[in-house]
Amino acid sequence: MNAPLLSAAAAAPASGLEWRNGFADLGADFFTELVPTPLPAPHWVATSLDVAHQLGVPAAWLDSDAALQVCSGNALLSGMRPLATVYSGHQFGVWAGQLGDGRAILLGETAGGLEVQLKGAGRTPYSRGGDGRAVLRSSIREFLCSEAMHALGVPTTRALALTGSPAPVQREVVETAAVVTRIAPSFIRFGHFEHFAARDQLPQLRTLADYVIDRYYPQCRNPDAPGGNPYAALLQAVSERTAELLAHWQAQGFCHGVMNTDNMSILGLTIDYGPFQFLDGFVPGHVCNHSDTQGRYAFNRQPNVAYWNLFRLGQALLPLIEDVALAQAALESYQTVFPAEFLQRMRGKLGLQAAHAGDAALVDGLLNLLAHGGVDYPIFWRRLSHAVASGDFEPVRDLFIDRAGWDAWLLSFSEHPGQSNPRHMADSMLKCNPKFVLRNHLGEQAIRAAEQGDFAPLHTLQALLAQPFEEHPGHDAWADFPPDWASSIEISCSS
Ligand code: AMP
Ligand code: MG
Repeated sequence: MNAPLLSAAAAAPASGLEWRNGFADLGADFFTELVPTPLPAPHWVATSLDVAHQLGVPAAWLDSDAALQVCSGNALLSGMRPLATVYSGHQFGVWAGQLGDGRAILLGETAGGLEVQLKGAGRTPYSRGGDGRAVLRSSIREFLCSEAMHALGVPTTRALALTGSPAPVQREVVETAAVVTRIAPSFIRFGHFEHFAARDQLPQLRTLADYVIDRYYPQCRNPDAPGGNPYAALLQAVSERTAELLAHWQAQGFCHGVMNTDNMSILGLTIDYGPFQFLDGFVPGHVCNHSDTQGRYAFNRQPNVAYWNLFRLGQALLPLIEDVALAQAALESYQTVFPAEFLQRMRGKLGLQAAHAGDAALVDGLLNLLAHGGVDYPIFWRRLSHAVASGDFEPVRDLFIDRAGWDAWLLSFSEHPGQSNPRHMADSMLKCNPKFVLRNHLGEQAIRAAEQGDFAPLHTLQALLAQPFEEHPGHDAWADFPPDWASSIEISCSS
């Protein structure tokens, strides 16, 4: 089935964008050109005006039937050149061979360099046994979380739109189909490099690396880049970006759930939202993915897994770097940048403006204390922010079983040399410690309502998560402790 082409005239009001596809210039070894499989009787579930604005798409276009059809895979805009890319990867620590965009189709890219991809747009040559579809449940989670992460300042792909359809999709039970329109400067993963390295396709590997450097990391061509080697410089730049990303995740209490190398962005973006979870209680060994029986991707293992994944990228780039010591030095940057960035994020959460010698010990002591009682992570930080403003720390103390431990930590915090004017500290803490977090049970409530055709809770949640640091009077229930049933939610790879 071919998606009809919407001419610019037919697409009224026009998207107003010129479309191209830089990835398509890489050549046929990198992708398969194909059109999305039409989605029957699509309807809007949610849209992001902020992303529309970022893309340069008029809000009025997003109201149009033309946009609905494009965002469902039923129509293309003039200039779009849809394709599915090929990649490979390590899944759960094991080489999985060829994977690829099994249900994602890249439509094209705007003149501003943002790529638009449909997830759930039907089968591709890389679907293997899959149906090429995504269900409403998991698509709501991806849509909400990518927008929430952006609002938290965490590097991420974004979502322009979410459309649904009555079309049945078989998972554990029959669900319905949905499509997420995702946006990113690039969807290239570590696995794209592993793919060509594993096949000893050196020219293609070099073409891909040069494309990524020229477009996204031009500084790697500077003669004074690490080792004077652009590919080592690329590995170092990606290591640093990944370190920054992991610092964000660990500080936010975000558990990705499936850190396979094919889910690692070459730009250091959070990508492929599946069984992710924001921690409720601070349980460092928490495993959010019900399918991860070994706990490989437990929350506290994420920083090491990222390094392991970078090592796989380093191996893939080695034929281009041609110098093991240089590659190792590039990877080493992760080991300095991650702890430094993590400490910086935690200083922000504590309202400490400048670095001091005792910062790491203060943070470690606090995290141990939070872990000891499984203290609710978002509520702790928000209460601490308000307590610094008011001077009343009782609501924070109430969260701890180990009251003596808390009192001792609070004393060390109050005597810490990084302390400044409490009002100042609290103001900055309230901008680092969100009131509204996409906890599993909130997503679940939005999903259950949406599956009954009620999108109001989803839209409310979307609005709260878009401004997570604001108070939003009247919405305190969305910032409360999780209900008892939250711990029984099981999120697996099924999506
Ligand atoms: P994920 O675990 O979602 O990152 O997916 C791993 C691989 O499986 C990727 O190559 C996906 O494109 C592919 N995949 C996942 N779900 C489906 C599906 N329903 N149909 C086709 N391919 C899929
Ligand atoms: Mg994936």
